[in-house]
Amino acid sequence: MWTNKLKDLILNTLFPIECLGCHQTGEIICQKCLDKIIVLNKWEANLYSLERIVTIFDYQQPLLKKIIKSFKYSPYNLNVLKRLSLLFIKCLKQSPLALNYLTKNKFILVPIPLSRQKLAKRGFNQAELIARELATAFNWPLKNVLKKTKNNPSQTNLSREQRKLNVQNVFQVKEQPPANIILIDDVLTTGATLKQAANILQQAGAKKIWAIVLAQD
Ligand SMILES: [Zn+2]
Repeated sequence: MWTNKLKDLILNTLFPIECLGCHQTGEIICQKCLDKIIVLNKWEANLYSLERIVTIFDYQQPLLKKIIKSFKYSPYNLNVLKRLSLLFIKCLKQSPLALNYLTKNKFILVPIPLSRQKLAKRGFNQAELIARELATAFNWPLKNVLKKTKNNPSQTNLSREQRKLNVQNVFQVKEQPPANIILIDDVLTTGATLKQAANILQQAGAKKIWAIVLAQD
């Protein structure tokens, strides 16, 4: 404990933490900047073989983009996810009926997996970290039932059409999936990833599938 604090102190002295928004030193994202993030809270029904898709933020906000990229590519910035989770958990709490439905029907959180190679390189799956925040906040169980079989090239430089082809047959189930599932991902682009994951899970026996996505591109 004490050594961790000392380590933080040394790191903060050598590399002072700057706010990703306003560059003031002290926090990775200050309260003022956090308050400026606009919550989208978009709910869609019956899309891509999913019962509901809940999207919390609009990825096009420059600050949000910066935050998501920072926790994706630098584990040192994982604190930023903790800060952001305050916002997305607050947002979900505005829909108590839905939360109640998910709990009552024993929905299980299933993060969209990374390929083995990518996981080894990055050291963590950002979707799983988001799922863990939700698991803690709402007391929902988390299960990694999906496996990514193909290391498809990064989506970043592909057209929308290419992205759809890129994610075909990339997932497999590792075990019998739970009946009701909440898929978790960080950024939604074409929806092809969610659709593919949902199809595989349904083929394996899953009944109701929801998704909670941090941001929509
Ligand atoms: Zn700031």
